[in-house]
Amino acid sequence: MIRFEHVTKRYADGTTAVDDLSFEVAAGELVTLVGPSGCGKTTTMKMVNRLIEPTDGRIFLDGEDISGVDPVELRRRIGYVIQQVGLFPHKTVLDNTATVPHLLGVKKSEARLRAAELLDLVGLDPKVYGSRYPEQLSGGQRQRVGVARALAADPPVLLMDEPFGAVDPVVRERLQNEFLKLQSQVRKTVLFVTHDIEEAVRLGDRIAVYGQGTIEQFDAPAVVLGAP
Ligand code: ADP
Ligand code: ADP
Repeated sequence: MIRFEHVTKRYADGTTAVDDLSFEVAAGELVTLVGPSGCGKTTTMKMVNRLIEPTDGRIFLDGEDISGVDPVELRRRIGYVIQQVGLFPHKTVLDNTATVPHLLGVKKSEARLRAAELLDLVGLDPKVYGSRYPEQLSGGQRQRVGVARALAADPPVLLMDEPFGAVDPVVRERLQNEFLKLQSQVRKTVLFVTHDIEEAVRLGDRIAVYGQGTIEQFDAPAVVLGAP
């Protein structure tokens, strides 16, 4: 589904952020990328939706080399959730979630129905929260809206960059559990960046353990933890 072939990224200042990276993620698989700050996790993610171009190597999505895919078209197929999701401040929660499908040509009424379903899926009652504005939500609730919005275009791939990194540990655990439940229903192909090994273990079907710009180990959580 996602394949990296000898991908290297060198920034203009000479920093090699990602060094000859090759790996493959299966359809419906959730892979967590774990490692210390600065090891190349975010760079890896941003190359998948062409926010950043590799210096070398190739990246395939469903067998197709993404360097030939229009970035706008590519981003319709890839949902992206970051640590501090930027919601539209002047739109309600429901409209934040419905806007992208509407822009993609779905009728407004249908986009809103679907948005309400998605809010329900991420644990926000649309009757209670749909008409609120982002500033009236807690941090955890905003992240949930971010996940709902990323799912709204029904992309096969989700990129999540420390999506639960900015909330307190109790809320984070709840978001993790709900996300696992959600993933069991929607089965997206997910790359999930975290610097928290516990989060990586709890969520990942497999874990990519980063060294400096490289993946040192790429295995199921039990194997990474050294279970027999
Ligand atoms: P991580 O997500 O694991 O924290 P990043 O992918 O953000 O790591 O960064 C990897 C390396 O690339 C770091 O050394 C970082 O300082 C460097 N880097 C990231 N973005 C840029 C940039 N725009 N220009 C130069 N160096 C960068
Ligand atoms: P979460 O666990 O989802 O992060 P919190 O524990 O932070 O939620 O918030 C608890 C409750 O307080 C939630 O029902 C939320 O809607 C409400 N709340 C938080 N911040 C605000 C706000 N600025 N305005 C209105 N309600 C708020």
